[in-house]
Amino acid sequence: MVGILNISTNRPIPFEDREVQLLQAIGNVIGVALENAQLFEDSERLVRELEATTEQLSAKNRELDSFVYTVSHDLKAPLISLEGMAALLLDEYAGKLDEGAQHYLKRLMASSKQMETLIIDLLTLSRIGREGRAAEAVSLNQVVDDLILEWGEIIRAKKIRVTRHELPTLWGVRTQIQQVMTNLLSNAVKYLGDPPDPAIEIGAKDGDGKMFECYVQDNGIGIDPKYHEKIFETFQRLKEIETEGTGVGLAIVKKIVEGAGGRIWVESAKGEGATFRFTWPKGQTEVKP
Ligand code: ADP
Repeated sequence: MVGILNISTNRPIPFEDREVQLLQAIGNVIGVALENAQLFEDSERLVRELEATTEQLSAKNRELDSFVYTVSHDLKAPLISLEGMAALLLDEYAGKLDEGAQHYLKRLMASSKQMETLIIDLLTLSRIGREGRAAEAVSLNQVVDDLILEWGEIIRAKKIRVTRHELPTLWGVRTQIQQVMTNLLSNAVKYLGDPPDPAIEIGAKDGDGKMFECYVQDNGIGIDPKYHEKIFETFQRLKEIETEGTGVGLAIVKKIVEGAGGRIWVESAKGEGATFRFTWPKGQTEVKP
């Protein structure tokens, strides 16, 4: 019940049926209007609460990013000194150290190199969105061509057939777009395995009008659908083949793409290659793929 409508009359005769019906109808309309007003108030309060929670969450995320940044940054200095000392030991005391000692020293250096890579990746992850760099028109064709040129040697050595279709110009921070393509392409190369005809394809299409949809496809080892979400989380590696990596690459890609207002996902099955697709808002550019 939302209220009581009290109607009285000073006529001697009672209300007629059609008057009662009319009053009931009026009562119903008033009831619905009151309920609507209540619902509207409730939904406005919910929106306000949601906005406040989102803001709190963003603030917590910023805090976490800055914490990760500080920790990674501070870890770098002692690590570099550790690496330097181990290198010095190997260099200057090589004659005095037996084979076993040299082997342990080399392993120590390899582990600290791996830790350095991890720290650099974590720094990159925590810096996204805080670089203060301005967005600009970035030709994806150019970005991908530069990468193909950079990896010419490994592409030729592994006999990979690379197809780069016509790609759009994206509106975004250049270093971020370069990072997205670097990570996706290097994964495509890393996780190719040993197919008879290794191939990587990079392409794009017009998404839903407001978005471009770009993809990087390979015919490598593929990913079991049960890991399709997991691989985008920090430190998640499937270790199906022995390759170097920290498990941060796809987390970086996801943070950049989502920060730009896009979405990323993978289409793949184990042993059947993988296609990573991401959308990117057209923003200020209207260049068609
Ligand atoms: P990393 O390559 O350093 O391990 P990433 O975050 O880039 O970390 O990738 C996470 C995991 O996702 C990888 O360890 C790998 O198991 C899987 N993966 C990524 N890209 C591919 C791909 N193109 N084909 C198959 N598996 C992939």
